[in-house]
Amino acid sequence: MPDPIVTINLALIEHNARAVVTRCARGGIQVYGVTKGACGMPTVARAMLRGGVAGLAESRFENIRRLRASGIDCKIMLLRSPPMVRIEELIRIVDVSLQSELPVIREISRTAERIGRVHDIILMVDLGDLREGIWPNDLLPVVEDVMNLSGVRIVGVGVNLMCFGGIMPTVDNMNQLVAHAYKVEARTGLHLDFISGGGSSSLPLLVSGDMPPGINNLRVGEAILQGGAETFHDAPWPPLDQNVFQLTAELLEVKLKPSLPIGKTGFDAFGNVPRFVDEGDRLRGIANIGREDVMVDGLIPTHKGVRVLGASSDHLVLDLHEADPPLQVGDSVSFKMNYGAMLAVMTSEYVEKVPMREAPHNDEPPSVSIHTLGDADLVFALHRLSERLGTFGVVVQADDARTRLDAGPDRRIAWDALKRSAPHHDALGLLWIDPLAALMPDHSEDEWPAEHAVLRRIMDRLPPYLSPENIVLIGLRRADSAEAEVLKARGIKVYTMVEIDAVGLRQIMREALNIVTSGTSGYHVHYSPDVTDMPGWIKGLGGITVRETHQVMEAVFAKRGMVSLSLSQITSALPPQVAAECVNFLLSAFGKKIL
Ligand SMILES: *Cc1c(COP(=O)(O)O)cnc(C)c1O
Repeated sequence: MPDPIVTINLALIEHNARAVVTRCARGGIQVYGVTKGACGMPTVARAMLRGGVAGLAESRFENIRRLRASGIDCKIMLLRSPPMVRIEELIRIVDVSLQSELPVIREISRTAERIGRVHDIILMVDLGDLREGIWPNDLLPVVEDVMNLSGVRIVGVGVNLMCFGGIMPTVDNMNQLVAHAYKVEARTGLHLDFISGGGSSSLPLLVSGDMPPGINNLRVGEAILQGGAETFHDAPWPPLDQNVFQLTAELLEVKLKPSLPIGKTGFDAFGNVPRFVDEGDRLRGIANIGREDVMVDGLIPTHKGVRVLGASSDHLVLDLHEADPPLQVGDSVSFKMNYGAMLAVMTSEYVEKVPMREAPHNDEPPSVSIHTLGDADLVFALHRLSERLGTFGVVVQADDARTRLDAGPDRRIAWDALKRSAPHHDALGLLWIDPLAALMPDHSEDEWPAEHAVLRRIMDRLPPYLSPENIVLIGLRRADSAEAEVLKARGIKVYTMVEIDAVGLRQIMREALNIVTSGTSGYHVHYSPDVTDMPGWIKGLGGITVRETHQVMEAVFAKRGMVSLSLSQITSALPPQVAAECVNFLLSAFGKKIL
């Protein structure tokens, strides 16, 4: 394990979101899921949406762009006022924003009018926490000014508590907010969709049954991401699970050392004078994570008997003397984190983020259903595909199989296959093994895209099942400038032939499979035979070798999780050796071994 990793359990995020949404619904409250703690990771957002949140809320434009780029089209709320230069972007990608300054609201209105839109705003009222918000006496005058602006519409009022001044949500301040909302409604004649009573910290009031009627929205992050570890500090709310995030690092050194440093004490690397208690000689360990990555005070070791002693930039010093079972160099140590520590690791470039789902437990024998277009069925029959799959235990059946295999004359088969398989999986990855990106603009309204626009069609039409951060291209040899632009804009990982030559397919497959499985429930593999140099075939020149193609397919099998596979160019016009190789590649993907 080279780098520290943080695992993110998406099933628990969905579970926590559902618990919050269900309880809030009983109080007439809609929930917006706040993704900023997870840096707007689309897989996290999607888990919240599956849990039933009505929309998402974010504080950063970078994160909102990430969500939109991955095809998430639900309502998104911006949790703070935008900088002036981002106002046009605000109007274009955000549905509703929290506002407290008239000059900003005026500018939003001007820009919205210019581009022919109306932007929805929630006016924040300061009820004593002294972070953002309009002072209550100023609320109605501001409302009146805003009423004269035609580019913005007031859709609600909101409050933020427990953030700066540590002021708790109470029956009293919630009632005040509702009263302000009614005043605004009376003055404007508008019905307010949002009377937004704060974040996670307002949940205890709801759970205890004391939330006043009238509050109809909460913006909840911590309770969903952290299971309310901070919100329900003293009395955890049982429906929530606090084990969503876990940080794991590796022990680089384990030695018996005295507990008091030796020599004259000066300032440490952070300008503090360290103090120590003499506990005699203790077994100490150093893990490969430090203050650059995490808030050390917020780490809670999960291994029995391990204590955090402190950290410098890159080294976390642990007391392992009472570790049970004992730990040695090379072992992993894991930690739970408080919200601050979680925020820090999520923003650290040095920590790998690994969204997880529990793989569905399945003891049935592997099975596949085969679907062909054109005369691909003749090719498979000639090369005895079904029979040979059977020799290593793969059952071929008409439907309800664990894997789906599609073959046809051109790469449009990938569109057909994915269109059918994607809706059965709430999040899918895609491994596109092809010398072409097939990302040209998709002008066709037909059921079938043009061949050079197949991947474009898949990307435009298949979210939320498929998002760009889970797509990998392998073996690219040619790309139009329009295609290169799409790849860049959507942040799709591409391994061109140049990278394959430089890094080698083994390493590339390891990375590629991490991308397609990261937070997904499985992945689709598309293989276009002209990516491979095959003897007697002009098409593949300059591509990967036959052996390398097997290596790719073997890596796919070893990783598990492939839910569907499509092959293009399978027709009886294919030279017989090429057809035979293609069937061999297929067999490798389904687990055929040389011995
Ligand atoms: C971060 C934030 C929230 C969410 O707070 P949690 O404690 O994570 O639920 C809600 N509203 C605003 C304005 C925020 O900045």
